[in-house]
Amino acid sequence: MGNPLRERRSAAEWSAGSQVIEIAEKISNFEQLAAIVEADLAALDADKIPAGWRDARVAGQMKFGFADAQQTLPRVECRVAVTVDAVCQRCLEAFRLPLETEADLLLLALEQEADGYDEYEVWELEESLLQPQDIVEEMLIMALPFSAMHLESAACKALSPVTEESADDVTTPFAALREQMAKDNEGSA
Ligand SMILES: [Zn+2]
Repeated sequence: MGNPLRERRSAAEWSAGSQVIEIAEKISNFEQLAAIVEADLAALDADKIPAGWRDARVAGQMKFGFADAQQTLPRVECRVAVTVDAVCQRCLEAFRLPLETEADLLLLALEQEADGYDEYEVWELEESLLQPQDIVEEMLIMALPFSAMHLESAACKALSPVTEESADDVTTPFAALREQMAKDNEGSA
């Protein structure tokens, strides 16, 4: 059997079967997304490009169904995650960037309208047949940050390193949480 992610069926057909698709792919299976990651990594010297970036695992799930009881509005609930290799725009070093995204989409034909379904985002069907992979790929591309940067300053070479004087001011999130809990306990005692 083929991979349902790359099968083409009408949205109504996907939804009529209440199709559930488990996503377990490599980033290299997503041509446009891989091209973006590759272009980003091209800023690095060739020997600094992470060797396995194409194998990054894309994982998630898609669940098709209908938004209305009359089954005229196909929908899909999709969540997907991947950790891509990216270049930090501050220090220009490679780092691992986790992406996670989810959406509840109404699958509407062009010009089709659906009032009263504000809790959904609309996915416009440009063709009569839908390849689920296209949705996953666009969601991941949209999840890419405008400017990728190390999240933790300790990992980023462009951010000032911790000096001896300022070391006392640095608290890890867990330490801060513990401190907060201790204070709360004092307050209630
Ligand atoms: Zn950095």
